[in-house]
Amino acid sequence: MVQTMINILSIIEKKANKLPLTEEDITFAVHGYAKGSIPDYQMSSLLMAIRLQGMNREETGLLTKAMVSSGDVVDLSSIKGMKVDKHSTGGVGDKTSLIIGPIVSALGLKLAKMSGRGLGHTGGTIDKLESIPGFNTSLTSSEFLNQVQTIGMAIVGQTGQLVPADKKIYALRDVTGTVQSIPLIAASIMSKKIASGAQSILLDVKFGHGAFMKTVDEATVLAKTMVDIGWQLGRNTQAMLTDMNQPLGQTIGNRLEVMEAIETLQGKGPSDLTTLCVEASAMMLVQAETMPTLEAAKQAIDTILHNGKAYEQFVKFVTAQGGDLAQFLKPLTKPSRHIVSIKANSSGYLTSLNALALGTLALNLGAGRMTKEDTIDMNAGIVLLKKLGDKITKGESLMTLYTNMDVTEAIKTTALEACLISSTLPPIHPLIEKIIRS
Ligand code: URA
Repeated sequence: MVQTMINILSIIEKKANKLPLTEEDITFAVHGYAKGSIPDYQMSSLLMAIRLQGMNREETGLLTKAMVSSGDVVDLSSIKGMKVDKHSTGGVGDKTSLIIGPIVSALGLKLAKMSGRGLGHTGGTIDKLESIPGFNTSLTSSEFLNQVQTIGMAIVGQTGQLVPADKKIYALRDVTGTVQSIPLIAASIMSKKIASGAQSILLDVKFGHGAFMKTVDEATVLAKTMVDIGWQLGRNTQAMLTDMNQPLGQTIGNRLEVMEAIETLQGKGPSDLTTLCVEASAMMLVQAETMPTLEAAKQAIDTILHNGKAYEQFVKFVTAQGGDLAQFLKPLTKPSRHIVSIKANSSGYLTSLNALALGTLALNLGAGRMTKEDTIDMNAGIVLLKKLGDKITKGESLMTLYTNMDVTEAIKTTALEACLISSTLPPIHPLIEKIIRS
């Protein structure tokens, strides 16, 4: 029998020539790179061939599967009930996990969530939670499972053993111009979701200035690809496409965002953030077959946002992970050194509130990291006092900046330039553009 030896060069050439890769090819490349037997220069060549030639749906599913099997998979089978997860592709002011988690777990679902830290201008759930004194984001696996079983939810940082191939491949993509590839992004995100073990997954795919995907069309392709991967790998998966042209809610920055999440869980949140969290939670409850219809789910959610149950669930979750909410809610002993109001220099309607510019501004105020080693100023950030479509009078405050850094004229100009004021009311797009089910 003639045996053909698989080798990385033939895999690169195959993809460069637009031929589909087999499961054997993909597993060989992904596992070989994760183990160190394939060097960076060959993997980056393969990644560039994938970026340029694409992958079909089967290859994308196989890539995800190979990435999942490069490391541990969380076994949630000991937990009774529907195990669910949600994922947002990243945005500015996106604190939805802190709200949706308590809502859906208060209504019976089990949320076992692994989250990331902030990346560039987008914030991360783990950083936000760490603004609560004592909050522990690295539970042992038995503490994690036990908390999900007893309380209904837990949120921890991702461990190094989960999808190690993604960690290595992502770092390589970052420096080889291969981040912007739908199959690579979809496999990267979905491998982590699949390895986290949930049966039912809701994806919030953002589009607009502040998102990875700038247009609805790009976001649609990414969402469809990820939903398809989920179903191929046996997970009930759906996606919502949501607008990230302006930040979500009124706050950007870790402590400010947790405060806003608490207000939203008490039924006093801003309307865009509340709407998104209610819709997403309702979709998750129906998807997991815990509620018969979206209307019934929304009614139940509205009830717990106003009778204290949603906030009570948040308190249980934070307390179980060591967070001291009483301390968090006390007035700050060391408030930000600079609290600066940015005032409108004309009257009219707010027609643009650039999420990318504001996310980057919050980063520069100390709310995020420029390098992995940077420490975050948990209290730094922005409170937006006006949102798209609001009427503005010259001299009114558009936003307040909180920082310990010096607030230079350049910072003030950036803040002002992120807001466009004109005489006509802009068209207001729906926050949720579409839903993709299969
Ligand atoms: N987020 C991920 O986890 N991976 C990507 O490739 C892009 C965004």
